[in-house]
Amino acid sequence: MILIDGKKVAADIRNELKQKISELKAEGKNVPGLAAIIVGDDPASQIYVASKGKACEEIGMRSKTEKLNANISEQELLSIIKTYNENKDYHGILVQLPLPKHIDEDRVIETISYKKDVDGFNPVSVGNLVIGKDTFAPCTPAGIQELLKRYKIETKGKHVVVVGRSNIVGKPIANIMLQKADGANSIVTIVHSAAENISYYTKQADILIAAIGKAEMIKADMVKDGVVIIDVGINRIEDATKQKGYRIVGDVEFDSVSKKASYITPVPGGVGPMTIAMLLNNTFKAYKLYGE
Ligand code: NAP
Repeated sequence: MILIDGKKVAADIRNELKQKISELKAEGKNVPGLAAIIVGDDPASQIYVASKGKACEEIGMRSKTEKLNANISEQELLSIIKTYNENKDYHGILVQLPLPKHIDEDRVIETISYKKDVDGFNPVSVGNLVIGKDTFAPCTPAGIQELLKRYKIETKGKHVVVVGRSNIVGKPIANIMLQKADGANSIVTIVHSAAENISYYTKQADILIAAIGKAEMIKADMVKDGVVIIDVGINRIEDATKQKGYRIVGDVEFDSVSKKASYITPVPGGVGPMTIAMLLNNTFKAYKLYGE
């Protein structure tokens, strides 16, 4: 069994980007920039946005965070986004979700220019992903494909079973793996909570992608020998032996399933670290495509 080290792959990607950005600087060129917009003071969102800003700075990318009051009107927020759409120093824009209830998230996402949509949530990006055009794929699914590619795991003609159909993980990773392209070209099945017998599907998987949000739901008797396991889940379970009183586990029961798997991502340290790395990658791509 090979453990897929997402921390290492994410660090490699950051170093590659850092190198490319230092070359741009040496040539006296503008550098890629990411603008993050956060509304309100939700502590988890503040932490996410701060870590994204720090990640940009570490690789020499320009970064700016707009911290906006929770009472801001939708109109004001949309006009700030439009300003960034025109700003030549910021090639990627992300709006941290969730937003306060009085703001229409769909309208906000649609207002971000598809050329700067580094989260890949704009319907134009989603549509382009479905029809196989080069676009910005959402960061977590893009990170999953990158892990498969870097570990040279064969995907062509393989049966990928995705458990979960969310718009940020399940549906986009299914669409990515379906494309007639390197690192994809798979036979794809999506399973969700309406399935009567999940095992019927998961046992057929050559590559099983679990994006469920249910602690250790996938057990060893639900997979076949040699399966590749990509565990997206991040779940807290009580653990009195830990100082915090809990530990983080995935959607897959790691100890038993890893004995049958050929490759497996740990939680934490598998898919998780890839998300910010791919956000940086998408911002660099936006710069190259539309902003250099
Ligand atoms: P979500 O929006 O809650 O979607 C969960 C999906 O799992 C839904 O499609 C749901 O089906 C399905 N599901 C739930 N219970 C099921 C069951 N018993 N059998 C089969 N399917 C079931 O979650 P998400 O946003 O996709 O996130 C999934 C997990 O990944 C979470 O643990 C989240 O924290 C984690 N995550 C990690 C990262 C990262 O590593 N960077 C990023 C995003 C998410 P229905 O559609 O029928 O309800």
